[in-house]
Amino acid sequence: MLAASSTGEPPAKRLRSEEPTGGEVEISEKKNVVRSPLFWFQDGNIDIVAENAVVFRVHRGVLARHSTIFREMFEVPQPLGDEPPGVCPTVHVSDPPDDFASLLQVLYDGIQVFQLKKAVAFSTLAACLELSHKYDIEHICTEALDRMRTCLCHDFDTMNSSAQFNEVGHWKTVLLSSSSLQLTVATDAIRAVNLIRLVDEPTMQPVAFYLCSLLPIPIILSGTMLPNGRTAMLSPDDLVRCIEGRTNLVLRACKQSERLFIPIPSDQCSTRRQCIAFLQSKSSGHQKERDYRMDVHCVTFYGMGRAIPRSSDFSALCEVCFRGFLSRHVEEMRYIWENLPGDLGLKVSEWDAAPSQS
Ligand SMILES: [Zn+2]
Repeated sequence: MLAASSTGEPPAKRLRSEEPTGGEVEISEKKNVVRSPLFWFQDGNIDIVAENAVVFRVHRGVLARHSTIFREMFEVPQPLGDEPPGVCPTVHVSDPPDDFASLLQVLYDGIQVFQLKKAVAFSTLAACLELSHKYDIEHICTEALDRMRTCLCHDFDTMNSSAQFNEVGHWKTVLLSSSSLQLTVATDAIRAVNLIRLVDEPTMQPVAFYLCSLLPIPIILSGTMLPNGRTAMLSPDDLVRCIEGRTNLVLRACKQSERLFIPIPSDQCSTRRQCIAFLQSKSSGHQKERDYRMDVHCVTFYGMGRAIPRSSDFSALCEVCFRGFLSRHVEEMRYIWENLPGDLGLKVSEWDAAPSQS
């Protein structure tokens, strides 16, 4: 809800109107409010003060055109017009200023922000989704959800073809991206879960919780600091779900790596001894690494969405055995995908792990 719509209530810092009123007009007595460098139109006719920190001078007609909430607010007879010349009526909102700026950017410069083939940062998308949901701006909400679904899929083959994880590494560097969205697990995973709760989109829950499960327990418990200055926290129920699910997923990842390097070469293999030796050495290497891998189980979906390159690491494996390894890897991922909602204590009726019919 809007924090207030106190017309004529001055926003918080001493700001000076640029309208020619025969002198500078103070429109605020409060301190620490600054004028947005991005959205301050000379011909604006409404001041939006976000979090008592930043004031945006924009156009009532633009807000009302896109948002039913603002439209209805402006339709309510208000004692407007009492302001001194050059002073706009003011609306106070509780939203983080950076988030409100992101929403305005889409409203005013939509095509540049949501270019069809361009990936947007999750923080921008999240701000737009949260605020378009709050202010009932349907087209932005729809666009944001469509982009969320390109990374938070419910169908394995769609996920495998449209989204990809980056190289396995430290949890702070794990990215999930598609052609239209990029998520950084360290900063975005918890916010993604909360967004999905907000808009009630169960099909996106499993991947979002999976991303949370990649975080260390202390981060899951304490939350993550967002670019907008707030901290994203899981609800108590979701905390339990995430921590219990994390245990299940770690066990899945361990079993997965055991099965991946089963030292059985392909039927067409012509270098059986060499390939068996390679697979055995990989398998024993993973055994030794297991303690290390426990907290880096994003390996579960490593390679999803792209071909794993035949690096020099695999040069000792013949071509048919390498293809067999890749095939086992995809099937292992598909199996884990199939069990993902259950491992996370979720039920998603549309969840789909079956190979697409082609
Ligand atoms: Zn072979």
